[in-house]
Amino acid sequence: MSRSVVVVGTGIVGSAIAAHLTTQGYDVSTVEQFAPGHQRGSSHGDSRLFRRIPFEGDLYTRLAGQALKGWRAWNQAAGTELLHVTGGLDMSVPGGNIAGDSRRYAREQSVPHEVITGAEVNARYPIYNVPSDWLTCFQSSSGVIYPDRTLAYLRETATRHGGEFHWNTPVYAMNEHPNGVDVETSKGRISADYAIIASGAWLCHLLPDADIPARTIRNVLCWFTPSHPAFETMPIFLAETGTHTFYGMPTSDGRLKVAIHGHFGELTDPEHETSPVMAADTDPISEFVETHFSDVAPEPVETVTCLYTELPETEFLIDFAPSRNRILVFSPCSGHGFKYAPTFGDMAKAMIETGKAPFPEQFSFDALASRQRADRQ
Ligand SMILES: Cc1cc2nc3c(=O)[nH]c(=O)nc-3n(C[C@H](O)[C@H](O)[C@H](O)COP(=O)(O)OP(=O)(O)OC[C@H]3O[C@@H](n4cnc5c(N)ncnc54)[C@H](O)[C@@H]3O)c2cc1C
Repeated sequence: MSRSVVVVGTGIVGSAIAAHLTTQGYDVSTVEQFAPGHQRGSSHGDSRLFRRIPFEGDLYTRLAGQALKGWRAWNQAAGTELLHVTGGLDMSVPGGNIAGDSRRYAREQSVPHEVITGAEVNARYPIYNVPSDWLTCFQSSSGVIYPDRTLAYLRETATRHGGEFHWNTPVYAMNEHPNGVDVETSKGRISADYAIIASGAWLCHLLPDADIPARTIRNVLCWFTPSHPAFETMPIFLAETGTHTFYGMPTSDGRLKVAIHGHFGELTDPEHETSPVMAADTDPISEFVETHFSDVAPEPVETVTCLYTELPETEFLIDFAPSRNRILVFSPCSGHGFKYAPTFGDMAKAMIETGKAPFPEQFSFDALASRQRADRQ
């Protein structure tokens, strides 16, 4: 008999899990508070970075290796590129950390990479105009993910395998009992063997008793128009300049998207519309573009806001809800979770089938609590 699962949330996490579990014979209902294509969460848009050697750490570098295999399989199954490999540049000013950290994880895990100077970056990729003494870790299998296309593919996959989507249906609560979970929604109760919370910035609303120190941060994204012929072959980048960490990528419609990782750290409430984009938001990004790129007009042609959900030390939270065996929590957040999407379905399946959380030493509620204790000391 197939197991039934309710997934809360149709961001990248809920969609990836729903698609995988349906293909594995699970009976999956996915419940979303908003309409299809909404832009209130973290997963919409035209582009995300796939960094093959994430500076965030050793475990993330291992997961990115697994995810790369998954993205290749998804590209093939979708018949279109959901991940477009461009190569990637992790760049740091002298004394910075990111390029050195990426290089260390690459060496430890024997991931192909090259260490080059800023001068070599400019020579190879002439759209860049970075200081010659910047240290750079080049990663050939990094690239751009196309989120909207990916979400459409995953939902189509889930639907084709019998998955159901309930749109405009907020989940208010969930109650675990010995035989399963009752999920209370605005349109009534859905009962299942398991429930998976993939609710992004709204995580704490469904787990009011859990002490989750998640912060929601307002982020601002800018798009620019490049006219340099080398734009076509530009690698994605992260650039640690000493004031901010900027990141950017070519989008499929021929524009350059640039943002500041975590922007200014301004806290916001996902229940409300975020405040509009101001010149103070975009000025540092325009200045960065004007200084570090050739032939890219520094006035943004489009800007939007987006929500970063952040846990201490930018870790993920993937575990069973406290004192629960049938409610799984998936919050691979902190501004870098999209790239690992192809790994989430397997993780969820393994949790259901073994009753064990993956990577408890790093992604569990206990690990989160010990980080909090360490922070307080
Ligand atoms: C500006 C920005 C740039 C980023 N750049 C990168 C990048 O370059 N590379 C990378 O790997 N990652 C990146 N990330 C991170 C990545 O996008 C997120 O980690 C990921 O999208 C989180 O997905 P999610 O499914 O957890 O959350 P969301 O996409 O927010 O989805 C949660 C869903 O749950 C729904 N929901 C919530 N509560 C309820 C409820 N009670 N009932 C029903 N539905 C509910 C919400 O409406 C929403 O649709 C970036 C994030 C942002 C914001």
